[in-house]
Amino acid sequence: MKAIKIRYFLFMIGLAFCLTGCKPSVNYDEIGQTLLGDLPDLIFANEFQYDFPEEYQGHKITWEFAKSDYIDESGKFIEPPFHDATLKLSVFVDGEKAGTKNITLSRNLTNYFSEIEKYVKSFIKDRARGDVRLMTTYYDIEGIEIGYTSSKPEIVDNTGKYYNHEYDEEIIFDVSVSFRGKTHEFQVKHISVGIPDMEKVVKIDEWLQEELANMTFVDGMELPQTHPLYGGRIRWIAEDPFVVLNNKDFFLPMDEGTYMLMAEINYPGAFEYFRYFVDLQATEIKDPLERAKCFIEVATPKEIEEFIVLYNGEGANITRNIIGDDVNWQVHGGTKPEVPQNVLDSRMYEGYTMPNEDNVLWIVVHETGMKLTGLFAEAFDKVQWDRATGDTKPDSVSWHYTVDDHQIIQNYEDDIACWHAGDGSAIGGGNKNGIGIEMCINPDGKYDASFRNDARLVASLLIRHNLNMANVKRHRDFMSKDCPETMIKERRWFEFLDLVAKEYISQTLLSQFEITYEINSEALATWPIAGVYQKVDGFTEDITVIAKIASEELSLAIKLN
Ligand SMILES: [Zn+2]
Repeated sequence: MKAIKIRYFLFMIGLAFCLTGCKPSVNYDEIGQTLLGDLPDLIFANEFQYDFPEEYQGHKITWEFAKSDYIDESGKFIEPPFHDATLKLSVFVDGEKAGTKNITLSRNLTNYFSEIEKYVKSFIKDRARGDVRLMTTYYDIEGIEIGYTSSKPEIVDNTGKYYNHEYDEEIIFDVSVSFRGKTHEFQVKHISVGIPDMEKVVKIDEWLQEELANMTFVDGMELPQTHPLYGGRIRWIAEDPFVVLNNKDFFLPMDEGTYMLMAEINYPGAFEYFRYFVDLQATEIKDPLERAKCFIEVATPKEIEEFIVLYNGEGANITRNIIGDDVNWQVHGGTKPEVPQNVLDSRMYEGYTMPNEDNVLWIVVHETGMKLTGLFAEAFDKVQWDRATGDTKPDSVSWHYTVDDHQIIQNYEDDIACWHAGDGSAIGGGNKNGIGIEMCINPDGKYDASFRNDARLVASLLIRHNLNMANVKRHRDFMSKDCPETMIKERRWFEFLDLVAKEYISQTLLSQFEITYEINSEALATWPIAGVYQKVDGFTEDITVIAKIASEELSLAIKLN
């Protein structure tokens, strides 16, 4: 309104001068103020456009922008990439500077809010024990208000202060961001850790001892997978591979007696293994066909990520390329020694007897750790041969088997002591009384296929040497080294042992029957390892596989993730 009045006034003055024939004296500043007055002090980028006049009442108007990048040719204000921009605008009337103005060019508020949200979330850890950093400012931008409301202020209050508590608690923060008259709200989840994870592991161990002592064990039951209050993840393996499947499903053994169960208690901040001895009755599922059917139903995965094993009794397919003693160098420690009873007692448990005559006590699982392409089993087979047959004395490094995603190569006989476990010549140790298996982790191989091939080999060796699940060890169990690296870092060791147990049952129980699978879907492709299938990309519909065993059929539903 004011601008119009001024314009009208100026027009009248101009007219008056023209009529009287006098030369007008132009008030440039007033024109400048008028023109600049049409522009607001705060402009939201992408929302505001201004048609900059080039002429005003016969005067030539020109504009100068200190940051011309933020205004396009059509007069549209462009969003500054990181921060608000201050634009200094100058207006010239007939070439004379007639005024300047500072305009705040605000970034789009939606972008602002999403960035503030991201910023706030980046300070709130998913899980932590202690104060939570609740940011109330966003860099040095003024006028932004960030407020928090905690769902459990007695655990972590609205300022992020932590109060001691026993159990892990989930907190939801309602966050409210106000800026330039608008408000944006969102939620952030946070687990506030109670007592330290390691203390929880100890509590769960004590709890499990009591639970197991009072438990009535029946076929098909599930073992505890978490603590009702302390949480955590518990996974199981039994010394007898038939007793626990899927790290949780329990079955009574064939014969009554005392059995060892192994539990893995897992928290993000702590990770421990425990052993428990339980007295178990004999199962009522004694008929081999009934047991085999039960196994197929329980052990066939209900969902598949990349690979699946349809168990049919197949054993490990081993290519023997044995390095004998007629070579330049003997890269091993001779025949495996006998282990005295006191060593067996301390390394295994009181009264444990060596179950074979080859003095094989351990299957020692390794990963090659060589993440180069092309390093399949054949490459390591060559390495072992080169060491033994080369001209110069090699390092004392050797192992029995190398596994990749399609084959298994054996270089030393099982009764030979190889150098792979890093525990020297200790009797009863990994070198002297173990069988070393290297699993390839080359990126052009499929880790999860090698993982299954490895489990199959381990099971074959357990069967061959009358061993059980308690004899399967990681390299790490003999020396402080992260090997097998991926299984340790991704906490897949018990998943691996579960596959070993299943292979063991497949090779001992299922091998007594003729078992075939009918797959009425193209979603599963065969893989060079018998019974192993790979999921084909592009299929999402769940599939049904029919297992045929001794003229009976079992229908198995499998989800494709
Ligand atoms: Zn190793």
